[in-house]
Order: sequence, then C-alpha cells, then structure tokens
Amino acid sequence: MTSVATWEETMGKRKSKRKAPTAKKNIEPLETQFNCPFCNHERVCEVKLDRDRNVGFISCRVCLEDFQTTINYLSEPVDVYSDWIDACEQANQ
Ligand SMILES: [Zn+2]
Repeated sequence: MTSVATWEETMGKRKSKRKAPTAKKNIEPLETQFNCPFCNHERVCEVKLDRDRNVGFISCRVCLEDFQTTINYLSEPVDVYSDWIDACEQANQ
C-alpha cells in the first residue's frame, strides 16, 4: 500500500490565488462642512484639525461663531462639530 499521489491529484492541490472581487466602497470625502447651530445656515461651519497641537477648530463663516476643542489622533471633523453641538446644548441648560 503506497500512497503516491497521481499527477492529477498533485495538480488539483494547487490553490487558485485569484483574489475575490473587492466591492467598491462608496467612500465619501471627509466631511468638513456642517450646518450652523446658531444661524441655521447649511454647510457654513468649517472644521480645521490641528493635529500637531491636538486642537480642533470650527467656525461659521456666516455668523462667525466659533469653537475649539481638544482632539486626538482618531478625531475627525465631525467629532469637533458634535463637541460644539454638545457645548451649545450645555450652555442652553
Ligand atoms: Zn452661523
């Protein structure tokens, strides 16, 4: 009883290295413009992230309200915006 693989068996073991088709993700460009909670204009608040100093700025170009908050390496513009909204809500309490 010898178990020598036949040529077909050996060839059959070759694994196909074809990559699975990668679904194209619909990645939106990072949002940096948001609606202003003060003057209610849309997409007028622009966020800037200063990653060297870990500070995020947001300001409205219509009513000139602004806000800054500390960020970390994971922070994105929307995080600065939501911090601003939180701060506004706290101020209103
Ligand atoms: Zn505004």
